[in-house]
Amino acid sequence: MKKIIVQKFGGTSVADTDKIKNAARTAVKEKQNGNDVVVVVSAMGHTTDYLVKMAKDLSDEPSSREMDMLLSTGEGVSIALLAMAIQAQGYDAVSFNAMQIGIITENVHSKARITDIKTDKLKKNLAEGKIIVIAGFQGVTPDGEITTLGRGGSDTSAVALAAALNAHRCDIYTDVDGVYTTDPRVVPNASMLREISYDEMLELAHAGANVLHPRSVETAKHFSVPLRVRSSFKLDNLGTLILGVEKMEIYQPVAGVAADLSQTRIVVTDVPDKPGTAALIFSKLAEENISVDMIIQSYAKKASGTNDIAFTVDDADAEKTAKVLDEIQFGNVKIDKDIAKVSIVGAGMIDRPGIASAMFTALAQNNINIRMISTSEIKISCLVNKEDAQKALKVLHKVFGLESGKIAEVKGDLPPVG
Ligand code: ADP
Ligand code: ASP
Ligand code: MG
Repeated sequence: MKKIIVQKFGGTSVADTDKIKNAARTAVKEKQNGNDVVVVVSAMGHTTDYLVKMAKDLSDEPSSREMDMLLSTGEGVSIALLAMAIQAQGYDAVSFNAMQIGIITENVHSKARITDIKTDKLKKNLAEGKIIVIAGFQGVTPDGEITTLGRGGSDTSAVALAAALNAHRCDIYTDVDGVYTTDPRVVPNASMLREISYDEMLELAHAGANVLHPRSVETAKHFSVPLRVRSSFKLDNLGTLILGVEKMEIYQPVAGVAADLSQTRIVVTDVPDKPGTAALIFSKLAEENISVDMIIQSYAKKASGTNDIAFTVDDADAEKTAKVLDEIQFGNVKIDKDIAKVSIVGAGMIDRPGIASAMFTALAQNNINIRMISTSEIKISCLVNKEDAQKALKVLHKVFGLESGKIAEVKGDLPPVG
C-alpha cells in the first residue's frame, strides 16, 4: 500500500497563478516520491475577506446560510485552477468540492463541525493514480445544505481528511517557515520551534496564534495524525512537527506567547445571587452556538442579593450575545470591545512555581493593567487593553527567554515521519 500524504495550501500560497503553479509542483513532487497525494486548498489570497466585505456592504446582518453559500465559492475557484495546473505539469488530477466527496458536518452555519467523511470516491480516484484536490473550509449537512467550518477552517478540513484516509502525514504549507514562539510578523526575533506538542499548539491556537485552526490541532491529537507546518516557498525547510508530548523533552517552561485581538468583554452587573442564574445565561448563549472564553463571577453583594458576571466572546458573536442577554433581562449589560487577550503557553509550566508571578510582574513593570485572568494547566491568559496588547506580547516573549538564539536547541533528530 502506498502512503497517503495530505497537503494543505493556505490563501497566500495560492494567491496568484504563479503561486498555484508552485503548489502544483509541490504536489507533483510528493507524487514522484511514490506517495498518493490529496491536496486541500483555501480560497486565493484575500478572497474570503473580500466576499465578507461585499456581504456587509449589502446587509448589516447577512443570514448565516447565505454567508456560507457565498464564502464556500472562494475555495471552488482555487481547486479547479490547482487541478488544471497539476494537469499542465503532466500529472492526472481531479478536483472535488465538499458536496461531491461527502464531507458531512453538523447542521450549523458559519462554524460547523465535521461529523463524517465519505472515502469511497477518494480511494477510487487515488487507486486510479490521480492527485486529488479538495476544497477546504466547506462541508455539507446530511440534508444537502452547504456549511463552512469557521475562518481558517481549511486546516481542519485537511487534518480531518488525513484522519479519515489514515494518511501517513498532513503537511500544512503556509507563508511562514513553521510555528514560532510568537507571531513572527509582530515580533521579528521570534524563534522557530522544530517541534511542539498537540496540547501546547492547541492552547496557542485558541489563544490567537492563527497559524493553525484550533480544531485542526484537536482533530490531529484525537486521531494521532502527524502534523507539520512548513513553508510553501522553501521546500528544503522541514518546518515544525506537532506531536504527542510523551515524545518530547521539555526544555522551557513557556513554549510560546500569543495575543487575541478579536475578543469582546461582556459584564452583566446585578444579576440575582441564586442557583440557576449562571446556568440560564450560559445555556441561552450555548443554544445560539456562542462560545464563551474567560468567565469571572464576583463575590455576592449581600445587601442587594446580587452578583456580577463577566465573560469574553469572539467579536463576531458580540451583537448576538447582547441580543440574548436583552431577552433574558438580567441585570445591566456592559460591552467592551477595546480589550485583547495575551497568553503564555507551555507544558513546562506544570508544577513549576513562579510562572504566573513572573508574567504579572512583567506586565506591571510595563504599566500594563490586567483586567481579567484565566488559567489552564499549561496556559495563563490575561485580558488587557487592546492598545497594550502588542507591547505585552513583546515583553512576555522577552521575559520568558523566547527570542531567537536564546531558546534551547531541541536535541536529536526529528521523529521519523517520512
Ligand atoms: P494560511 O493562509 O496559509 O492559512 P494564515 O494567515 O492563516 O495562513 O496563518 C499564517 C500566519 O499566522 C503567519 O503569516 C503569521 O503571521 C501568523 N502567526 C500567528 N502566530 C504565529 C506563530 N506562533 N507562528 C507562526 N505564525 C504565526
Ligand atoms: N478561506 C477561508 C478563510 O479565509 C478558510 C481558510 O483559509 O482556511 O477563512
Ligand atoms: Mg490559515
